[in-house]
Amino acid sequence: MSFQSLGLSDALVRAVAEHGYTTPTPIQTQAIPAVLAGGDLLAGAQTGTGKTAGFVLPMLQRLSTEPSPHGARGQRGARRPVRVLVVTPTRELAAQVEASIRTYGKHLKHSSMTLFGGVGFGPQAAQLKRGVDIIVATPGRLLDHAGERNVDLSTVEILVLDEADRMLDMGFLPDIRRVLALLPAKRQNLLFSATFSDEIKALAERLLDRPRTIEVAPRNSTVELISQKVISVGRDRKRELLSWMIGTHRWNQVLVFTRTKHGADKLAQALERDGIRAQAIHGNKSQGARTRALADFKKGGVDVLVATDIAARGIDIAELPRVVNYDLPNVPEDYVHRIGRTGRAGADGEAISLVCVDEHGFLRDIERLIRRAIPRETIAGFEPDPAERAQPVFKQQRGQRAVSGPPSSRARARQTAAPRGSGHADARGHDRRHAQPHGVSRGHGQPQAHGAHRAGGQGRGAGHGHAFARGGGTHATTSAPHGSRRTHAKPR
Ligand code: AMP
Repeated sequence: MSFQSLGLSDALVRAVAEHGYTTPTPIQTQAIPAVLAGGDLLAGAQTGTGKTAGFVLPMLQRLSTEPSPHGARGQRGARRPVRVLVVTPTRELAAQVEASIRTYGKHLKHSSMTLFGGVGFGPQAAQLKRGVDIIVATPGRLLDHAGERNVDLSTVEILVLDEADRMLDMGFLPDIRRVLALLPAKRQNLLFSATFSDEIKALAERLLDRPRTIEVAPRNSTVELISQKVISVGRDRKRELLSWMIGTHRWNQVLVFTRTKHGADKLAQALERDGIRAQAIHGNKSQGARTRALADFKKGGVDVLVATDIAARGIDIAELPRVVNYDLPNVPEDYVHRIGRTGRAGADGEAISLVCVDEHGFLRDIERLIRRAIPRETIAGFEPDPAERAQPVFKQQRGQRAVSGPPSSRARARQTAAPRGSGHADARGHDRRHAQPHGVSRGHGQPQAHGAHRAGGQGRGAGHGHAFARGGGTHATTSAPHGSRRTHAKPR
């Protein structure tokens, strides 16, 4: 199967070949002829399957072969009518889709632009006034411009809702409805979603007219090529374990997920102290900072990008070898989205989840969703303490801050911390029985890697040169005040 045989023009086939693609991916093989035929499309495809080219290529072809039914000029003085609207949940995804439009459309003459928040409103308004064929937007900023009458969407011929499930998760349904009200009744609709909840089905029913349905990965299952594993670890030892794994395996280009923005910042700082080049990316960072962090990561300037689910949505890094779930997501569909960042377009990928006893309920939900058990492992020296009892995840994050800090204050906090967890089901209804005072789980002679960053002085020259700590025979141990043994890391 070639791109040419799918009915694409020479200009598009040439652009694709110049970009290094030789064979269409399964979603492209199905979506390209379907979109060219002009009908609506409901596509179940995860990020990493090549879905962007699956809709961008045929949409460009339609624009270049069919003149706008609204004539050459747009309304409200714009020099041309808006012909395609792509709506995405995040700024990063919007930027990436628009970059793909430029790449694949390099031998054509269409103009495209992004509309999202976090960047100046005025320049966007000016560009809209000049006229543009294709807009790739997040819902909020698009509606702001529509409200200011900067953009007329009544000429749109093709609407794409990309990662629709995520848009609904993010609460964009009311905004999507408002956008739909601005579009003409007659148009082609393409809806892409990695998962199919009842909400998505309802949206599809409302939006699509006798759609072609294509699905490249079985519904709600994870990409086959990704090898998945769970590493069981004590609640407070995840950071040490992650530093150790990165150092030992000389990993670079690791995308690490945390549940919260605060957690992302804290982890990136801790990794930096361990001598690992890391940056955090989340919604509280300015668009500029997010773009820079992503660019740095892509070109190898940082080894680890720590991201929250929303910030990482749509991140496109070719052949990302590895994704680490530092926290398991409490929404099981997010697991599918997260691990879809690796194993892209046929490349192998690895998804590793560091799971503590508090997250077993989340893990069960995920395994139910993907309909398979994820193999479990432990790493010698980092085994979870069998006496550690589950605590409510959200309460625990608050309590966690009370015991962070230098070892002496941590030890003090352990001795004085009140029992955490109420013994009731947590926010997701998982039974979190028998919460224990923090600290009782210690002291089982389990070696504790501690103070990896204090081992310091590690160079970045040879490999990564990370200092990492690991429980094991090679390290000296001393008694800690609360009865556990601590291992002081040595640089290797
Ligand atoms: P997407 O699912 O659209 O985010 O694409 C995932 C990755 O696959 C991106 O890095 C694309 O550049 C790449 N890709 C898309 N189509 C192909 C293809 N036919 N052959 C190889 N790589 C592709």
